[in-house]
Amino acid sequence: MPRLNRREFLNTMAAGATAAALPVKTHAAPVRGAESPSPSSGLAEPKFRPLPLGSIRPLGWLQRQLRIQADGLSGHLDEFWPDVGQSKWFGGPAEGWERAPYWLDGAIPLAWLLDDAPLKGRIAKYIDFIVTHQRPDGWYSPYPEDAVTKRYDLWAILLANKMLVQYHEATGDERVLKAVEKSLRAMLDGLDRTPLFDWGKYRWFEGLIPIFHVYERTGEAWLLDLGRKIHAQRFDYDAFYKGEDITVPTPRRGLWKWAKHVVNTGMAPKGAALAWRLGVRDADPSFPARMIEILDRHHGQVTGMFSGDECLAGKNPVQGTELCSVVEFMYSLEVLLSVFGDPAFGDRLERLAFNALPATFSPEMWAHQYDQQTNQVQCTINPDHMWTTNGPESNLYGLEPNFGCCTSNMHQGWPKFAAHLWMKTPNEGIAAVAYAPSEARFLSRGTPVSAALDTEYPFREALKITVKADKPARFPLVLRVPAWAEGASVRVAGGGEEKMKPGAFHRIEREWKGTIEVALRFPMRPKATIRYNEAVSVERGPLVYALKIGETWSRVNADKPYRELPHGDFEVRPLTPWNYGLLIDEKKPEMGVRFEERPVGDKPFSPEGAGMAAAVQGRKINGWKIAHGWAAEFAPGPQESNEPLEDLTLIPYGCTNIRITEFPRLKK
Ligand SMILES: [Zn+2]
Repeated sequence: MPRLNRREFLNTMAAGATAAALPVKTHAAPVRGAESPSPSSGLAEPKFRPLPLGSIRPLGWLQRQLRIQADGLSGHLDEFWPDVGQSKWFGGPAEGWERAPYWLDGAIPLAWLLDDAPLKGRIAKYIDFIVTHQRPDGWYSPYPEDAVTKRYDLWAILLANKMLVQYHEATGDERVLKAVEKSLRAMLDGLDRTPLFDWGKYRWFEGLIPIFHVYERTGEAWLLDLGRKIHAQRFDYDAFYKGEDITVPTPRRGLWKWAKHVVNTGMAPKGAALAWRLGVRDADPSFPARMIEILDRHHGQVTGMFSGDECLAGKNPVQGTELCSVVEFMYSLEVLLSVFGDPAFGDRLERLAFNALPATFSPEMWAHQYDQQTNQVQCTINPDHMWTTNGPESNLYGLEPNFGCCTSNMHQGWPKFAAHLWMKTPNEGIAAVAYAPSEARFLSRGTPVSAALDTEYPFREALKITVKADKPARFPLVLRVPAWAEGASVRVAGGGEEKMKPGAFHRIEREWKGTIEVALRFPMRPKATIRYNEAVSVERGPLVYALKIGETWSRVNADKPYRELPHGDFEVRPLTPWNYGLLIDEKKPEMGVRFEERPVGDKPFSPEGAGMAAAVQGRKINGWKIAHGWAAEFAPGPQESNEPLEDLTLIPYGCTNIRITEFPRLKK
């Protein structure tokens, strides 16, 4: 399979790539863990294939959530924020690098999932401008005549092409496919003159996504040469994660590093999967899981994220996590699920989607944070902050707190999650790889089939899938069973209850005709985990629970540009006490916590709309200390307290705006 020819080898040498990045052997070694590359395609087949954009329709709470997003900042940013609306990408005078492509990367799937005609219309005009202003040499209009000789960082072009192929998939507009192909052709020669550096080098894998998209439609072999050239010029995360530095939290006001940058970190886990599809010799399919394990051990938060404000910052729950890293890690997991089909990536994806993602937005999605904290008792402008390299406004809810990257990049979170809930299996079947109310339409050997999931999961344990086939069709329905779902069961067409193995894919292979119901049940048991400084966190199913704190919002920065309501900046302060220790036995959490179903609100991820609540008991303790303005830190180990026992309410983390999630434990 892929080998490095002499010309490419010499070019790579000339480009000054590191020795570690050079695949010098001429034979592709067999890879572990997934199917072999298909000789006819030149690219290894992914385990599951995402459905084309537009095949999945959101239903129930997911439809409401996407509508909230489109009615908030995501659907209106281009109307008032110059860095998108007046971008150089669209012929304007403002920023002409990553911001407009970032916004489109989320706005495109949002518009097509909702079939939102006005938004689709605006997007079509922007895309039209980009493709009609591409220069004859293939470089897009915001770039100098020959981007590489001017030593321009190609990152924004990798991103723009990734965004454009989504548009091509949604619309079938052939001009867009041609524009991407032309851009990639310019890059093929350009990378010999100026190899990837800075953002492009650390985000090299994003470039493979449009390359694969075009290759699978044209079969042009030079595209795979380009993929291998990009790979050879990459930053080698595999080598970096073998070292010591990755285990060390960045100190307060510490050194900013490319390799410990939290957004790069969230993007990087998909690199090995894409390189494996490309067939490069040293692509290691086990690396993404190992990488995530290392991040969990040294920087992990209970939400399934890792801290980074904005470099990796350890396990302390007062450290921040940048919003860009949440949406990028989600997208990485969607790619990993598709390529390797490991259900653990689905568990992690849901953990982020239902906890870390919604928590960091105001419930109506007009305001977002730059950094969220697992223990976050106050969000105010704070020059004394304890971030590693971020600024004093990083945990405000607002238009562009700290820096505008999240303002432009946040939009992809929910839409890409919705677009990856269902994927096609190799033998014409359908897999539910993550769960939220939605309907997938696809063809199985030419027969139109729909699979609709009716559920209030993750707030409930019951899920009902209705499969409809116009004509009898035989195909597998493949269902991810979360690892936490001990006792999971399925019932097909009113038949007997069948047990399912947690942490695996359950396969139902049969003839489907007419309408058939598949009822799933994922029992959710309370779980208490011991974390940083021996604190305890409460989880149940895919949801993490946090203290519901009374809150007050006050507007700030009203005189700054573009902060007219509804897109203003806000501080949030607590109105009720939060300085509790929790009375809970981590070995028998079901004894100390009682879960109660509540109606899932119009805004499913708001304190009022929370579809679940948990009753626990705790006492105020003296071990809490406020450090650096608003960091609620606590002494290690179980805490003494003579305060009276109080009944406390926890709600899902994703429904909170301020919260305590990792609680000190009380001495028995
Ligand atoms: Zn950001």
